[in-house]
Amino acid sequence: MPESGTLRLPPRVHFGYGSRLLLPEIVAPHGKRVLAIVDPFLLSTPFHDELLDGLRGLDVRVHSDITPELPVDTLDAAGAIAREHGTDVIVAVGGGSALDAAKLVALLAAHGGPLRRYYGENLVPGPVLPVVALPTTAGTGSEVTPVAVVSDPERELKVGISSPFLVPAAALVDPELTLGGPPRVTAYSGIDALVHAVESYTARAFDHDPAAPLPVFTGRNALTGPVSLLAARHLGPWLPVAVASPGDRQARAEVAKGALLAGIAFGSTGTHLCHALQYPIGALTGTPHGLGTGLLLPYVLDAVRADGETAARIAELGAALQGTAVSTVDDTIARVVDINRAIGVPASLADIGVRREDLPRVADLALGVRRLVGIAPIEASRDALLHILESAYQGVV
Ligand code: NAD
Repeated sequence: MPESGTLRLPPRVHFGYGSRLLLPEIVAPHGKRVLAIVDPFLLSTPFHDELLDGLRGLDVRVHSDITPELPVDTLDAAGAIAREHGTDVIVAVGGGSALDAAKLVALLAAHGGPLRRYYGENLVPGPVLPVVALPTTAGTGSEVTPVAVVSDPERELKVGISSPFLVPAAALVDPELTLGGPPRVTAYSGIDALVHAVESYTARAFDHDPAAPLPVFTGRNALTGPVSLLAARHLGPWLPVAVASPGDRQARAEVAKGALLAGIAFGSTGTHLCHALQYPIGALTGTPHGLGTGLLLPYVLDAVRADGETAARIAELGAALQGTAVSTVDDTIARVVDINRAIGVPASLADIGVRREDLPRVADLALGVRRLVGIAPIEASRDALLHILESAYQGVV
């Protein structure tokens, strides 16, 4: 384990049933003009009125035109509303798509568009509007991370904008907001959180020159490791329960806590091969982000075990997932396969419409996502990626 560490976090993070009720207190110091970016599902729930009630006395505009997986051209209208309203602070309530939308609208309002100017790392020129984020899925960790992801129809893969300026001003993680989530949303967002825990724990470690600027994603470090393991400990036993019994309040709380912790860890380390490969697969198949990253996880673990130190770390993750003192790489992979089966994540890329002839193009596109493949604990050559993809296509670890 490297000796130096970084956790890049919002100044305020609150977790627990009822934490959403802190919203008025958290918003007040930021100003009076509020843009509420609200996931469309919320409009038909009591949370919408409760939200507006909490913001009474402030000048609130509501925007709820959010499309899952966030096509980039759907954000311009919200950016224009934010500017025209003279917005002081954005309140974001919803899944990762709504939270990412809010972060990008905060960017558009502060620095103008088009968003493709900022694709990549550290291209945001300065602070953006403050965002107070309330996730309604337990998965992406977007409420604490420095990244937002969009689908761009002009690109063959999803694109990230990463900058410390995109870390929200506050995160209120209230499991109550996730209770109504349907099993598929719970499954795909929850398995994505598990991938965050695994990829942050197995990320490459780098020696950073303390005098040089810190990259957005540092690789694994002395502070992230314990957080990743703790996330796995909450998610492993409880994700299948939350999918099978959506009203189980303890399961929802455990998964929400695990997803938050995984977000805190990967928001500093970055993620690696499941994510690099999901970007082109998501664009090709139009499937949800977590379905793709979760499907790929057993195959990526099987590839990165080639590195001895990483194999030991995978076994540690296995023990956390199973709540045992020790585990092995084989048992860890078997546990991940079991979780995927239990929650309905398909086993093979063929099941989600990928054809064998697509694999070389997917590998080439994933190789281009340097910020992700560079964090993998093995040398992610084209052959290594093709091997992962071929196994995932056949559905055999
Ligand atoms: P999502 O936000 O796309 O939501 C999926 C569906 O679930 C939507 O129809 C939404 O309306 C609905 N929904 C959300 N919460 C609900 C609830 N409580 N009850 C009922 N319906 C609900 O899904 P997601 O998995 O949260 O987010 C995926 C997006 O997040 C992708 O675009 C992905 O690329 C991005 N992402 C971002 C980060 C980050 O750090 N910024 C990390 C991982 C993924």
